[in-house]
Amino acid sequence: MINLNTPISELLGIGKVINKRLSKLDINTITDLLKYLPWRYENLGQTQPIDSIKIGQLANIVATIELIQNKRSFRRKLSITEALVSDDSGSLKVVWFNQPFLIRNLKPGDQVSLAGKLEEKSGQLVLSSPIYEKATSSNEQIHTKGLVPIYHLTSSLAQKQLRSLIKQVLPLAKNLEDWLPKEVKKNLSLLDIGDAITKIHFPKNKQDIEQARKRFAFEEMFIRQLKSQDLKQQLKSAQAPVISFLEIKTKEFVNSLPFTLTNQQKQSAWDILQDIDSDQPMTRLLEGDVGSGKTVVAVLALLNTALNNKLALLMAPTEILAQQHFQTITKLLKKWGIKISLYTRSYKEANYNLPDKPKTGDYTKANIIIGTHALIQKKSPIDSPDLVIVDEQHRFGVGQRQRLALRQDNLIPHFLSMTATPIPRSLALAIYGHLDLSIIKELPANRQPITTKITDYQEQPKIYEFVRQKIKEGRQVFVICPLIDPSDKLGVKSVKEEHQKLDKEIFPNLKIVGLHGKMKGPEKEQIMTDFLNKKTDILVSTSVVEVGVDIPNAAIIVIEDAQRFGLAQLHQFRGRVGRSKHKSYCFLMLDENANQKSKDRLQAMVKFSSGFDLAQEDLKLRGSGEIYGTIQSGFNEINIASLLDQKLIEQAQEEAKRIIKKDSEFIQNPLLKQVLFRPD
Ligand code: ADP
Ligand code: MG
Repeated sequence: MINLNTPISELLGIGKVINKRLSKLDINTITDLLKYLPWRYENLGQTQPIDSIKIGQLANIVATIELIQNKRSFRRKLSITEALVSDDSGSLKVVWFNQPFLIRNLKPGDQVSLAGKLEEKSGQLVLSSPIYEKATSSNEQIHTKGLVPIYHLTSSLAQKQLRSLIKQVLPLAKNLEDWLPKEVKKNLSLLDIGDAITKIHFPKNKQDIEQARKRFAFEEMFIRQLKSQDLKQQLKSAQAPVISFLEIKTKEFVNSLPFTLTNQQKQSAWDILQDIDSDQPMTRLLEGDVGSGKTVVAVLALLNTALNNKLALLMAPTEILAQQHFQTITKLLKKWGIKISLYTRSYKEANYNLPDKPKTGDYTKANIIIGTHALIQKKSPIDSPDLVIVDEQHRFGVGQRQRLALRQDNLIPHFLSMTATPIPRSLALAIYGHLDLSIIKELPANRQPITTKITDYQEQPKIYEFVRQKIKEGRQVFVICPLIDPSDKLGVKSVKEEHQKLDKEIFPNLKIVGLHGKMKGPEKEQIMTDFLNKKTDILVSTSVVEVGVDIPNAAIIVIEDAQRFGLAQLHQFRGRVGRSKHKSYCFLMLDENANQKSKDRLQAMVKFSSGFDLAQEDLKLRGSGEIYGTIQSGFNEINIASLLDQKLIEQAQEEAKRIIKKDSEFIQNPLLKQVLFRPD
């Protein structure tokens, strides 16, 4: 008997090849198949009589095949399948190209449903390459009629194949476990899981789609809210180590800085220092656009922790950033005699036997340890931190907070997450209900706006000239390429090729270095240190410098094949310049073959300079169909569309609070408990 856990290989019509292709999409069982949601629909309309369809329009007919035969067009080396079909109202010619096997499937006398465009070719009406399926009285058409689901697929898998498979197992949808509590579904009139799955795959009308989507969007938000509320509850009764606020020393440090803190930097620092001077664990998100100066705010907390002779961890998303933080912070705190250490995987492996090894300190004695996520991995020897700061991880969820309960004495460390991801305050509070929030909106006063230009490769000589001029004035330059190695197939710029070209042909007298993620940690660090110390003029890099990297003297960033990057990413790249008083420039090099959509996207970079505005624009440009797509890979990712649905968030929060209040141990909702504590 086939059930929800049956491997798909046992289904009719699945051979080894298809099985493998499906498993690439993480579809292994019937349940996976059912939960693989379409990302959009094609509206193929309802059946019309042949004599009513019009040239240039999408036609949808059910007709009988009168004749069908293969022909060869010698001139164009094409195989053509021609058919004559008819219904009560008339007859019509149909052609397909390069599908000679069709005549094995479709025979004279067969009833078929066809959807395609009606064209006029040398005076004759032709239905050209229509989608087809047999239309017998017992089968329901799923490929050619009404709202037809379209799935994200790997190229070698056909929509029709997947659609038929899903149709085949759809009756099992009603057996799916529904973990949404009945009362919640009733309160908000949400569909049962089986219903929702059925309607999202094969909707009868648009309303079906809306209803189903509402259920899935709610489900996602509800889980998020439950986790937040549950964690909030736990944190309320938890104890944290107190890190006393050392006011005089803090002021002394602030006064020693080469700049004055902005008001919002001061406010954020104050929020944090207050929080950690308490036995209630801090869980705070510090949000500030690229270049707003989050690091120094973090340093104030690190300083206080160290001066209390306690342990602070600072976690960066990449090794390069960890190394850079290590250097910056060591320098900033030099006078204070604080033991600071660097801890990343590559330092553990490559370790200390390099001749020029940077001094990374002994982490067992340190009060501040800076590193990558290696810091909190299971095997990490570091325990009992008092403060944990996470920089630019784009994850400030509940799971991460929970994983940080790594103390033997049952105390919970204080936790700060820093991000440039722009989330409006109201939303952040709603989505991450367990977090407190500090926001830095203003940039330091010494900044000039960055000039952003879209240019094509014809203008490249001019840009090289400009680059040469700026380097003469003492500035430095980033060049970003999508790839590490040259690729003939894609014709996309690579670090190795561009490095070679700039170094040998364009700027033979300048110092140019390449950087990419495959290099070893210490090598990367040497390159970044040299760049920071102005030993290099141009750094040609992949996206490894995307976030966080701070080279105040860099004033130009050239992004090759800019159409290949998303807006959020481009904004991060641009944030690598304009980090000091120097006027800065961002050149977006656009391939002439790029489509209009890419051009519009890049235009947004010219128009907007703040991450908030760009995020909004991004949503607009992508359109809801695309955005909705993020939900399809297993209900786990954030669905941006639902992030913007304030009402949905509020409803989810309300329901979550109600459930937790009534049944905080989930005794009446064991399924919910399972979903909630399933590792993500
Ligand atoms: P981000 O918020 O992107 O992490 P950083 O903390 O790296 O930004 O700061 C960017 C640059 O601005 C750094 O070179 C830092 O020294 C400098 N900076 C930070 N605060 C100020 C300030 N108040 N005035 C001037 N420069 C500042
Ligand atoms: Mg930063």
